[in-house]
Amino acid sequence: MITLALSKGRIFEETLPLLAAAGITPLDDPDKSRKLIIGTNRDDVQLVIVRASDVPTYVEHGAADLGIAGSDVLQEHGGNRLYMPLDLQIARCRLMVAVAKGFDYNGSVQRGARLRVATKYTESARRHFAAKGVHVDLIKLYGSMELAPLVGLADAIVDLVSTGGTLKANSLEAVEHIYEVSSRLIVNQAAMKLRRNRLQPIIDAFASVTSAA
Ligand code: ADP
Ligand code: MG
Repeated sequence: MITLALSKGRIFEETLPLLAAAGITPLDDPDKSRKLIIGTNRDDVQLVIVRASDVPTYVEHGAADLGIAGSDVLQEHGGNRLYMPLDLQIARCRLMVAVAKGFDYNGSVQRGARLRVATKYTESARRHFAAKGVHVDLIKLYGSMELAPLVGLADAIVDLVSTGGTLKANSLEAVEHIYEVSSRLIVNQAAMKLRRNRLQPIIDAFASVTSAA
């Protein structure tokens, strides 16, 4: 059995055309079903549905041969024990610094003020502000980062932005770009050696769709 780990929602939906190119059709929709293991039309391929930030862990430990994970998640996880053959160019967005409208971010940075920054992306944020020489107190959150500046928990947030709609709805504005995000195919290193003849056709099929896009 070949096992592919991915998260439901955006990544699952944007992965469907890639799976189709490899001749793989899931037998259930994880956004409707409560099943965590989803069979496919191929007897030898199954999907496991896990939290986005858990995908690298499943693949690293060999519980899944393949996975699809955002580059944001891989930056936080540290992907050095994974083989990463492809940028799939799906679930694209940007990691950004945002503040409440009217907060003088650049002025604060220039004055050398210590900033309170709320984020799920503590590793990416730590590196970004260290490279700029900005002193920050990082506040770890697991969701709804946009709330933090509105209730005085933080001066700034570091979060993913695609359309900017969520920032706008909460009177926040993006002030700095950290990095571009898209999803990557990740492969267990031992599986890549031992099961290459089974995995390579799937990788090639994904690559054919990705480069055509
Ligand atoms: P969770 O809710 O488990 O934190 P999400 O479903 O919000 O995860 O996001 C999963 C992945 O999808 C992220 O790691 C990122 O790579 C990508 N992603 C998140 N938000 C967006 C967005 N607004 N636009 C495009 N891709 C996104
Ligand atoms: Mg989310």
